[in-house]
Amino acid sequence: MSKIPVGILGATGMVGQNYISLLTDHPWFEVKYLAASPRSAGKTYKEAIEGRWHIRRGYDAALDKLIVEDANDVSKALAAKKRGNLNFVFSALEMEKDIILKLEESYAAAGIPVISNASAHRWTPDVPMLIAELNPEHSDIIPLQQKRRGWEKGFIVVKPNCSIQSYMTPVYSLLKAGYEVKRLIVTTMQAVSGAGFPGVPSLDVIDNIVPFIGGEEEKSEKEPLKILGTIEDGLIKNAAGPLISAHCNRVPVIDGHTVTASMEFGENKPSIEQIKEIWRNFRALPQELELPFAPKQPIIVREEANRPQPGKDRDADKGMAVSVGRIRPCPVFDVRFVGLSHNTIRGAAGGGILNAELIKAKGFFGH
Ligand code: NAP
Repeated sequence: MSKIPVGILGATGMVGQNYISLLTDHPWFEVKYLAASPRSAGKTYKEAIEGRWHIRRGYDAALDKLIVEDANDVSKALAAKKRGNLNFVFSALEMEKDIILKLEESYAAAGIPVISNASAHRWTPDVPMLIAELNPEHSDIIPLQQKRRGWEKGFIVVKPNCSIQSYMTPVYSLLKAGYEVKRLIVTTMQAVSGAGFPGVPSLDVIDNIVPFIGGEEEKSEKEPLKILGTIEDGLIKNAAGPLISAHCNRVPVIDGHTVTASMEFGENKPSIEQIKEIWRNFRALPQELELPFAPKQPIIVREEANRPQPGKDRDADKGMAVSVGRIRPCPVFDVRFVGLSHNTIRGAAGGGILNAELIKAKGFFGH
């Protein structure tokens, strides 16, 4: 099978670099098109990232010679599509939300599907916000989105905020097992890579904790409701619960968002052992389909008293698994735990790649 040619918008940034690195030797996708800001446009990729390769893995050296295009210029992408060098793009742009919103729509209107990491379209009701294990059925809205907007081949799919899977994967698996989670309090400890580069000033975050990340608490509380929602009349209708209270903090960790969570159940309350069993056995569509980026075990239960920790557990199953531990009774709610996931892999580029694999497996790329 020949590989599907893909592009990366924002290829020079923190998430873009993760895409470049993670897509090396991908069995289905091959990076053939790179775009970033006008500052990088016209340079080779090697020139564009010189002195600012931030991640600890390498990438396919063949990309060094590829010329970076201006992501604002959709005609360049269209030309690449006509040459057979582009089927769809991963969007990892950091710009004004309104500009990203319109730009992603321009790509989709030009027949180029967009798998996005940006938050611009997370609240667009006909755009699915996917965590592949949790709400893969929301991708079924794609033909309705295309019809309503008059897009023939293009469409937009987004992924949620980078810390959400660390608590929502465990919570979702309990809901699926029939246990209502009524209320949830989460405190996130988010890595600096989550803010891109240069991100948080070093003097703010070394030897310190910043108890504020703009807009993050609202995302952490509301995005889960869309993920748990249902498709009604061609739009995604949010679920009514659980009620979530989030405290979001920036901590001096490079990669890996940690969360402490307390859950209150409905009348049917699982025991600690039942919860562990549900989490260990949780499998979903990406595992059934054996998608290349699907972790074998989406939730890894750690029994050590002091795990998970970002330095030791963020790379579990190539950074795609969520690690949980310290599962114990909560004297205020019912049960509390610690969750951890890799923010730039599972929470960004790896999650985007898994979403693209799901979309491909469902045939929406036309391959
Ligand atoms: P970043 O490191 O700041 O990278 C931003 C990218 O956008 C760069 O490639 C940059 O190109 C490009 N860009 C900036 N201004 C532009 C313009 N005017 N026109 C075209 N391209 C422009 O940001 P990031 O952390 O990778 O985040 C990228 C997106 O993913 C954001 O929407 C963010 O909210 C989302 N996200 C990030 C994470 C994470 O953990 N970091 C997780 C989930 C989602 P130049 O290099 O040429 O300036």
